[in-house]
Amino acid sequence: ALPPHCPPDVEALGRATWSFLHTTAAYYPTRPTPHQRANMLNLIHALPALYPCSNCAEDFGDKIKENPPDVSSRERLSRWFCERHNEVNEKLGKETFDCAKVDERWKDGPPDGSCD
Ligand code: FAD
Repeated sequence: ALPPHCPPDVEALGRATWSFLHTTAAYYPTRPTPHQRANMLNLIHALPALYPCSNCAEDFGDKIKENPPDVSSRERLSRWFCERHNEVNEKLGKETFDCAKVDERWKDGPPDGSCD
């Protein structure tokens, strides 16, 4: 990893962005209003245009065309991001993540309290 005062490389930017996206999904409402849904769709659809890694952005744009975002609830949105992240994991030859554990990882922490 680069020293902390350096601009982020693709890896550091990816970790920061996934932290933001999964955490935002973890705190998204169970029953979002139309306005909240529209804001989330805007955020997701802005990524292919703005994410500062052009091949990441381009592939992500293709993936969201194949699997349009499900912004209907916290649970469904969290799963949707988990599945998109897993597609990137597969592309990079990384292990896939068990999406049943997404709340443990991004919202509640492990049951042993080690993150409390
Ligand atoms: P990351 O993949 O960043 O994951 C961070 C943490 O999230 C992991 O430690 C794990 O605890 C958890 N996690 C892992 N998988 C999941 C999941 N499915 N659901 C929930 N939590 C999970 N890099 C490229 O080289 N090429 C690309 O095309 C590319 N596209 C990207 C597209 C987007 C939209 C984003 C946000 C990032 C992209 N990246 C890409 C970056 C890449 O996904 C990783 O962030 C980077 O390689 C660092 O990986 P990492 O192993 O540190 O963990």
